[in-house]
Amino acid sequence: MDRIDCAVIGAGVVGLAIARALAAAGREVLILEAENAIGTQTSARNSEVIHAGISYAPGSLKGRLCVAGKAAMYAYCEERGIGHRRIGKLVVATQESDLPDLEKYLALAAAQGVTDLQRLSAAEARAMEPAVACVGALFSPSTGIVDSHGLMLAYLGDAERHGAVLAPRSPVTHGEATADGIVLRAGRGDGATELLCTTVVNAAGLGAQRVARAIAGMPAAQVPPLYYAVGHYFTLARSSPFKHLVYPTNREGDLRAHVTVDLGGQCKFGPDLSWRESMDYQFDASREAAFYQAVRRYYPGLREGDLQPGYTGIRPRLQGPGSSLQDGANDFVIQGTAQHGIAGLVNLFGIESPGLTSSLALGNYVAALVARQGAAA
Ligand SMILES: Cc1cc2nc3c(=O)[nH]c(=O)nc-3n(C[C@H](O)[C@H](O)[C@H](O)COP(=O)(O)OP(=O)(O)OC[C@H]3O[C@@H](n4cnc5c(N)ncnc54)[C@H](O)[C@@H]3O)c2cc1C
Repeated sequence: MDRIDCAVIGAGVVGLAIARALAAAGREVLILEAENAIGTQTSARNSEVIHAGISYAPGSLKGRLCVAGKAAMYAYCEERGIGHRRIGKLVVATQESDLPDLEKYLALAAAQGVTDLQRLSAAEARAMEPAVACVGALFSPSTGIVDSHGLMLAYLGDAERHGAVLAPRSPVTHGEATADGIVLRAGRGDGATELLCTTVVNAAGLGAQRVARAIAGMPAAQVPPLYYAVGHYFTLARSSPFKHLVYPTNREGDLRAHVTVDLGGQCKFGPDLSWRESMDYQFDASREAAFYQAVRRYYPGLREGDLQPGYTGIRPRLQGPGSSLQDGANDFVIQGTAQHGIAGLVNLFGIESPGLTSSLALGNYVAALVARQGAAA
């Protein structure tokens, strides 16, 4: 059986950022990825927004890692020439009763140390985005967009420069905690191998619960439930009337059809939220009517035929329907030995948005946890 220092399971943006941080810290790293290539799951099916950190519960990991990750992301993208733009975001109230929500965002942002939000009148917002109808808005100048694929390639390149090795087509199917380390079984059929690992980081995204359950010795009670929270995107079938991202305030029961614009200038609306029983990316075109209605709330110029089916992504939620982002219940969960009792194992669960923004900070956080666990052993 081969012996290795650190195995990182999952080559999405988070696993790659962790592999990069561990390899840069001098650790031997093997990245085990089930698919043929890096970043084909949630990391390829998102909004590519660098979030400012204005809507997370105070003290939450999401809030802290988003704010730290945002700063690190801009610096990294500048340094490495990765496509990104600090285009800014308008949060718009479309009726008087939504205005108090803007104050809530201001308070939440301030609690995270995000102090650059600007309160705008309807006229000021319209001067920035003439197509938007609103009664008031906030402007977040530090929200941006990034080329997530370029970012992942850069993380992998950094990790490989420090000696890390990527093993695609290597699904982890089984594990066992032993006195010598964690034995992982990876690969399919005759090509499967067993590895004895000092450290295992489970960054398998939507597969993280399945991986954790497959590790003999992992207490079942420590594996949180997984809810498949699907988001649909519709694209705009003409050039974008928007220069910024535009998010309506969250209204109970409303579809969350934000405007995002990618680096190529393509405008899309979404992601909304619906629930599925499995990892099913099928696009449900019947959501179109609800999108027209929701988008016209802030963009009355949307014409029939403007919306084209785009794609879906799935958030790995730990709480089901009815849970709120603001109540802290939907925070990232990062478990080390102190939580589950297995030496050398780190599990990441529920790494939904802002996981992309937070990726560099998540990498550093997990590398520090691994170092502490090693020092304590
Ligand atoms: C609709 C949507 C919009 C989003 N928008 C944003 C945004 O604008 N900004 C932002 O900051 N965040 C956003 N996010 C969140 C962000 O996309 C995720 O947090 C991030 O991509 C998660 O990365 P990951 O590496 O944890 O997961 P993934 O990208 O899913 O990677 C996990 C990897 O593990 C592999 N894997 C699974 N099981 C196994 C196994 N048994 N063995 C080996 N490998 C395995 C998978 O193949 C996959 O490659 C969004 C998410 C969604 C769903």
